[in-house]
Amino acid sequence: MNSRDIPVFDMVIFGGTGDLAMRKLIPAMFQRERAGVLPDDGRIIASARNPMSREQYIAMVEAQAASYIPDAQRQEPAWQRFLQRLHYVAIDATKSEGYATLQETIGKANGKIRVFYLATSPKFFGAICKHLHGAGLVNERSHVVLEKPLGHDLDSSRAINAEVAQYFSEDQIYRIDHYLGKETVQNLLVLRFGNTLFESLWNQKYIDHIQITVAESIGVEGRAGFYDHTGALRDMVQNHLMQLLCFVAMEPPASLDANAVRDEKLKVLRSLKPLTMDDVKNNIIRGQYTAGAINGKTANSYRKEEGIEPESQTETFVALKMEIENWRWGNVPFYLRTGKRMAQRVSEIVVQFKSVPHSIFDNRSTGLEPNKLVIKIQPEEDITLMLCGKKPGTGTNVRPVELSLTASSEEHIPDAYERLLIDAIVGRQTLFMRRDELDAAWQWVMPILEGWNNGVGRVEPYVAGSWGPSGSAFLLARDNRHWYEDLS
Ligand code: NAP
Repeated sequence: MNSRDIPVFDMVIFGGTGDLAMRKLIPAMFQRERAGVLPDDGRIIASARNPMSREQYIAMVEAQAASYIPDAQRQEPAWQRFLQRLHYVAIDATKSEGYATLQETIGKANGKIRVFYLATSPKFFGAICKHLHGAGLVNERSHVVLEKPLGHDLDSSRAINAEVAQYFSEDQIYRIDHYLGKETVQNLLVLRFGNTLFESLWNQKYIDHIQITVAESIGVEGRAGFYDHTGALRDMVQNHLMQLLCFVAMEPPASLDANAVRDEKLKVLRSLKPLTMDDVKNNIIRGQYTAGAINGKTANSYRKEEGIEPESQTETFVALKMEIENWRWGNVPFYLRTGKRMAQRVSEIVVQFKSVPHSIFDNRSTGLEPNKLVIKIQPEEDITLMLCGKKPGTGTNVRPVELSLTASSEEHIPDAYERLLIDAIVGRQTLFMRRDELDAAWQWVMPILEGWNNGVGRVEPYVAGSWGPSGSAFLLARDNRHWYEDLS
């Protein structure tokens, strides 16, 4: 893609002085500048309540960029070129006044793409869309990007979507889940649908089970107020983990067209076996970390973190077992888990194939492990196929061999936000969630929230720096399985 492929745009970032803008959005757009793909007249217009001049905003970006963009890159001519794209308009999202100034800044250039990136609390989304519309800023070339969290339950999510839908049509709305912008997630699509080899094995006949892990070693890190009212289920499972599940489990779409892919993802969500209260009790594990140590550093318990209620029952860990009721996946369990203050920062999908039906090798041969496809998303992106090979020497001893399916490349791998911001400008919705998908994901999750509210199950403690509470290991052990990292 080069600068001729990207239409001239004005990208308005609401919350343009916040952590997300400074840490992710501005650096991502700068990387696209360095790649030389932004059109000359493309502009980024940041907005927040704090009154300041354009020069002051640029100075703020320069100061913050030191933490997120390497010094050497900021010495390149691209950095000064990029700063020239930045503008600033002070707006209180909830009041109509500032939008007239935004209108003047944007001008009447109707041919430009307008991207409104809402990087504020979702409680402002409805008001922002209403005022943008009121100021005549929404036209057929306008796109709106909605950051998560989109609500805290089914009703609030529906309410936000309904408000936004009054002013933007569905094909103008980009609900972001940055996990879907990761290179490996795209690679998963190519692996599945670009090779007959995997697709023909991708079903209950050959696959024993699938694990999805999103583990963080950090705690709440300054997000205590938000996190203590949110918890791991809403923060991670309902969006990131369920979206990854969709990409692993969906049927081949007819094309990469946004609706073709999203139709298939929706079918997965609608095929999830609905949860009974017994399932909530037995198949959903929640935990909260106690004091411990990670990489030799001591870590406080969750309840002792600054800003957390001393008696908080918020879950910092969830593990669950789910089933997809269709022909491809009948009887194949999907085990998902996510947590904070875990032993390692790792996001990965493990597809474990069935054991060979009969071993002809020495029973003592320990290497005869079932094949696994390990798709690592974080910290490094990598796909490895774990096979069995012969141990060199006399006899026919078997040993595990690993085949890396990731071509080593000197090329810059774009950060998820780089890809998704450009997609939002050019109008590619494939990697963004459609309203009905979000609805279906919330519908599946709701019995868990209801059960927990009614005291079903309990929050199990786990030591910071471990792999979660014992209930998580037991969830798999009772099916004669174990989490992948337990092997190492
Ligand atoms: P933040 O650092 O607290 O920034 C909030 C931004 O919103 C600031 O620019 C703030 O500037 C502006 N703002 C607050 N009230 C406003 C109002 N009434 N009108 C206009 N602007 C207002 O938050 P953040 O971490 O960037 O997160 C923003 C949103 O993205 C949150 O909903 C968060 O959950 C979500 N998110 C964040 C991350 C992340 O990594 N940070 C990741 C995924 C999703 P003023 O105070 O000057 O108005």
